[in-house]
Amino acid sequence: MEIRNKKISIIGAVRSGIGTAKLVKKIGGVPFVSDSGTKENLKDAISIFDELGISFEYGNHSDRIYDCDFIVTSPGVPTDSPVLKKAVERKIKIYSEVEFASWFCKGKIISITGTNGKTTTTALMNYTLNECGLKSYEAGNIGKAFTEIAPLVNENEFVSLETSSFQLDFIDRFKPFFSLILNITPDHMDRYNNSFDEYIASKIKITDNQDEDDFFVYNADDNLTFATMQNKRVQKLGFSLKKELHVGAYLKNSKLYFAWFGSVTEICSVDDLFIKGEHNIANALAVLAVAKTLNLPNQKIRNAFKTFKGVEHRIEFVKELNGVEYYNDSKATNVDSVLVALRTFNKPLYLILGGKDKGNNYDQIKDLVIKHVKKIYAIGSSAQKVYDYFGSIVQTEKKESLESCVIAACKEAEPGSVVLLSPACASFDMFNNYEHRGKVFKQAVNDLK
Ligand code: ADP
Repeated sequence: MEIRNKKISIIGAVRSGIGTAKLVKKIGGVPFVSDSGTKENLKDAISIFDELGISFEYGNHSDRIYDCDFIVTSPGVPTDSPVLKKAVERKIKIYSEVEFASWFCKGKIISITGTNGKTTTTALMNYTLNECGLKSYEAGNIGKAFTEIAPLVNENEFVSLETSSFQLDFIDRFKPFFSLILNITPDHMDRYNNSFDEYIASKIKITDNQDEDDFFVYNADDNLTFATMQNKRVQKLGFSLKKELHVGAYLKNSKLYFAWFGSVTEICSVDDLFIKGEHNIANALAVLAVAKTLNLPNQKIRNAFKTFKGVEHRIEFVKELNGVEYYNDSKATNVDSVLVALRTFNKPLYLILGGKDKGNNYDQIKDLVIKHVKKIYAIGSSAQKVYDYFGSIVQTEKKESLESCVIAACKEAEPGSVVLLSPACASFDMFNNYEHRGKVFKQAVNDLK
């Protein structure tokens, strides 16, 4: 699409909005950015816009937004927000940032979505492709916005693109070479009218424009993704922790295999993976399915899996002190992620749980808590809820701060056990974001004597 002199309104002035505004400006369009946030919260964006001469408004959305050729919206803006509803009423076309960026990307897009594991899998994908001698860029929620990266990518190069379902809500021509859906479980239901079907439909959109030259990697252990993938022209590969596949990557007897129409190759053993936990084996299998379809050498893939150290705040090893290991899993902002973390460790656990509750139901981790957890430290605005649920099941103590949890755990945890921050909640009651929470935890651990 010709962008020169086109008026493009951009909703949201955080990472993807800033990237979009810069790209529009660079290619001769006329950007106008609108964000309902405060001057204080948007000061980084405002200084960039001032410097580049980009028009913007903050504090509210004025009608100037609708004087445009089309809108590019940011993933943080709810689909049913008044600003977007009004645009729909006025029949103004709305695109997401990944849709817009994809128009300017000559390379091949590997688009990774799912409820959990997007960041880790995107990072591992990018790392593996580069270690195997291809050129891949990382973009999306991880690292840089796709609008920043897209123009840099040449033909025969790749983008490993972390893609949230919010980005997929407003695609039009977005056509990944590989699309991956890692898993689909209920999360963000608030954004989809509490309709799981709507949430699934938004993720499946990732395959909408793919054809027989493209590939769709699906979780063969997840009936939902499998059911929804029918009737697509795209070539399909599965990944599975549980069963052998005719086409795809799977785990069998602690080994990772790749099968291409029945021809099977052993790639590596589970012990070759530096990142731990069954969930990470699934993430590695998804990457393996892509790497082998691209015909990358087994030895190099194995080396990449051995040396990829994982992503900060995701079951991240912090340190060992007096025989006790400390892990930061601050990114575990839902109960599913805590379940995954509890499954990863086969040692007695001292678990720090709580924060801003998202309507959590702890039933699904109850049995694992009984089995593995020696004590829970409950923090944040949901401390009482955590206490009420677990207090009669396992030793539970309410704490005022994360630092006090770490100090108490250091006194109480015996050698051979693990202290794990895996809060199952958002962080905004006590911290700026989960990264902030993770850093406070790591600092407290590193301050231990
Ligand atoms: P996302 O970007 O989708 O939020 P991350 O890679 O940041 O995913 O991981 C978030 C949390 O989800 C991690 O703390 C981990 O416990 C859990 N997780 C990672 N991969 C998976 C997976 N394949 N299945 C289920 N849970 C996972």
